[in-house]
Amino acid sequence: MAQIEREALIEAIAEMVRAPSVNPSLVPGADGERAVAEWIAERLRQTPGVEVELQESGGGRPNVIASAGSGPGQTLMINGHIDTVGVAGMEEPYSGRVEGNRLYGRGALDMKGAMGGALVLLEAIARDESFPGRVIVTFVTDEEHSSIGTQAICKEIERLHPDAAIVVESSGLNATIAHKGFAWAEIVTHGLAAHGSAWEVGIDAIAHMGRVLGALEAHGRELLTRKPHPIVGPPSLHMSLISGGQELSSYPDICRLEIERRTIPGETEEQVRGELRAILDQLAGEDAQFQAELTMGLFRSPWAVERDAKIVRLLAVTYREDTGREIEYDGSAGWMDTALLAEVGVQAVVFGPDGDGAHAVVEWVDIDSVERYTRILGKVAYAFCGGSGA
Ligand SMILES: [Zn+2]
Repeated sequence: MAQIEREALIEAIAEMVRAPSVNPSLVPGADGERAVAEWIAERLRQTPGVEVELQESGGGRPNVIASAGSGPGQTLMINGHIDTVGVAGMEEPYSGRVEGNRLYGRGALDMKGAMGGALVLLEAIARDESFPGRVIVTFVTDEEHSSIGTQAICKEIERLHPDAAIVVESSGLNATIAHKGFAWAEIVTHGLAAHGSAWEVGIDAIAHMGRVLGALEAHGRELLTRKPHPIVGPPSLHMSLISGGQELSSYPDICRLEIERRTIPGETEEQVRGELRAILDQLAGEDAQFQAELTMGLFRSPWAVERDAKIVRLLAVTYREDTGREIEYDGSAGWMDTALLAEVGVQAVVFGPDGDGAHAVVEWVDIDSVERYTRILGKVAYAFCGGSGA
């Protein structure tokens, strides 16, 4: 493969940063990913050998699925998102300005830097007729909200049939091999509305929720004492939102609480539901007037991959060859699209460039790290698709 020029990377990333793609589910009225998706598709169509399709992910928000290489070997998927968070308070969200080793703008680090690298790499692979297999780059929507982009990719996974994936979220050139999951749940306590003076009739739903809060706080402390995952630490829980009551002079008939439980690899939705259920059952057993219901909301799985998985080993070997150092393994407290790919049977690792200011008012990507990331990604693609077992 021909060497990838630094200037080509800078130009591609800056163009992507200049195409706003604020997630409209996060910021109502924002334009979404269409402009940057169309720019990517238009550019890739100009390179012979790249196959490009726009895939509707919902609400007129397209993923770009692009592939190159027709060798008989394996297929590697490179997955990353093209949406960004909002730009409130930013002085120059769409400048793409380069100063020294930094390229600035919303999404530069999270994650147009990585996707610009993947785009230029795919063009280089398309120009190499001897590429041993196939690379698919999925530029997906909505990772910053509810991942409708990668969900749409997962629905097509049989057709795309990747043998492994690299999710190129910024990892500071570390290999991220685990992340936490989360579960949302709503608990509603039911009381009995009555005149504020009618103590013999009214049942106070808010006071009953107080018992729930106390029990959940104790449960949260207990979670922190459980055996932690070696990379992502212990599970945890917090109360997120609460509301209840109707007016000052009445007994409240309802109180509503929303909570978030962060899970670690090995924990399941059934387990989380069972633990919460047991807390409410215990409180109901202590007081016949206590009435509460539990509704589970969004569940996103925790994720982990073994260090001896082929794609992880190849990344580690390639990193050592390129840098002369051992790669560092880490985990992410936040959830990533990796878990969705794992659920449809695609083994993955997270590897991306370095920088600072994701979701902050000054965001930049480290250009040296983008160069190194792109070079290592290319070498891993050749080795993996060529069938090297490392
Ligand atoms: Zn991201």
